[in-house]
This record gives sequence, C-alpha cells and structure tokens, in this order.
Amino acid sequence: MPDFKFATRCPAKLGNGECKSAIFYDWGLKMMTHAPVVGIDGNNLQKYDGWSSGQSIQICARCSTPYIVEEGRLVDVSVELGPEEVNQIISRGQTNLPHPKIKDP
Ligand SMILES: [Zn+2]
Repeated sequence: MPDFKFATRCPAKLGNGECKSAIFYDWGLKMMTHAPVVGIDGNNLQKYDGWSSGQSIQICARCSTPYIVEEGRLVDVSVELGPEEVNQIISRGQTNLPHPKIKDP
C-alpha cells in the first residue's frame, strides 16, 4: 500500500477521543455554498457577488458525521443534515451494497 499521508481526519468526538477516520462516504450530495472568488485579477469581480458552488458532502464512514471540505478543513454540517437524514441516506445506500468493513490505516 502506498504511504498515504492523511491530512484530514474526522474530528468528531467518539468515546474518550476523536474519531480520526480518514474514510468518508460520498453519495454525490451537494451543499450549495457561497464561494468567494480569490486569485482572479480584474475589475469586474462584482459579477461574482452571490456566486455559489456545490460542495460535496462527505459522511464519515465510522461515526456518520457529515462534512463539507473548506480550505482543506472538515466543516461539520450536522445541523443542516441531521443524524436521522444521514441514517436514511446510509440505509438507502445499503439496500444495494453492504456496509464496508472499515479498517483505517
Ligand atoms: Zn468520524
């Protein structure tokens, strides 16, 4: 196995510590967010006012906390996507595929 360096691990509280899983579900759910445009030269940046983009929602495979990734950081979106909704999404996915055994490196 390649020597991956996992920079982003799940910070959710689990037991006495953090979950720290580096494995996430991605079912193609998107959360529309404002995406400030950076690094573009020009004098007509007002056209990007209110610009939004769809950011993938990642659901931790170990503790089921949903996140979006902003600037390389996991941002908890469990207020917007609560445990009940996450469980529904996971069980819908499991009707076709069994839950994988999670063994983090
Ligand atoms: Zn987790």
